[in-house]
Amino acid sequence: MRIARDLSELRTIRASLDGTFGLVPTMGALHDGHASLIRRATKECDYVGVSIFVNPSQFSPGEDLEKYPRTIRKDFELLEELGVAIVFTPKVDGMYPPGFQTWISVDDVTVPLEGECRPGHFRGVVTVVAKLFNAFQPDKAYFGQKDAQQAVVIRRMIKDLNFQVEPVICPTVREADGLALSSRNAYLNPEQRKAATVLYRALSSARNSYENGEREGDVLRNVMRSVIDSEPLAEAEYVSASDPETLRELQSVKSGSGVLFSMAVRIGKTRLIDNMLLS
Ligand code: AMP
Repeated sequence: MRIARDLSELRTIRASLDGTFGLVPTMGALHDGHASLIRRATKECDYVGVSIFVNPSQFSPGEDLEKYPRTIRKDFELLEELGVAIVFTPKVDGMYPPGFQTWISVDDVTVPLEGECRPGHFRGVVTVVAKLFNAFQPDKAYFGQKDAQQAVVIRRMIKDLNFQVEPVICPTVREADGLALSSRNAYLNPEQRKAATVLYRALSSARNSYENGEREGDVLRNVMRSVIDSEPLAEAEYVSASDPETLRELQSVKSGSGVLFSMAVRIGKTRLIDNMLLS
């Protein structure tokens, strides 16, 4: 495994690799969700690159940029075990040189949900992912369904900017009790950790209602909201039953269109997101 700490090292190593290349962008503090993307990439590509970069531009002021978990030594061990060819760990001023002022923004699909709660978040995500595409020149790039809106936004960006990269969206990896793995779960104390299962319980209730024939958007959203309201430590930031492509809230789910249930919930100071895609 080669470690590239800046763009020029990365370009040199990348140029020496001949074969199909898969990229897995991450912010580190790696867990089994990340590992599932990397395993898929190593199955499908000759070489896999992983970036570890806590990207400041996708955090809003007052968010957890400074305290975001950083476990770089453990991350390197895991990546070595997984057979990764390149790990890229740039510094902030390597990705954002002094005077930086060029951004990519995607319009409609970044407006609702996470975009509404975290202004500027997707501009930061999309810009850094485009820069990583330029740097790695991957054939495929792997993202998690855990960040459902991010997957929609990046697919859009790839199409609109004609990147020659195939996006691969991998299923959400969960703990046994349903909690989606997330680096931010490390912030939860034991009591909050128990309460955090409320996201999966709420999504599962909406899925049950849907499978029992419920199609009204408001009813499905209320099902999720009432489960979250029943958990004293949880506060819903949003709950959504949206069109999986446009991410617009659905009045009713039409046959053939599917539905994306998604939510952001605060457990104490920790903000968790989760979703379920029914097609
Ligand atoms: P992050 O390090 O949180 O930016 O995540 C890096 C990538 O891993 C993103 O594409 C995430 O969607 C994906 N990811 C994070 N958690 C999970 C999970 N529990 N299951 C599957 N993919 C995940």
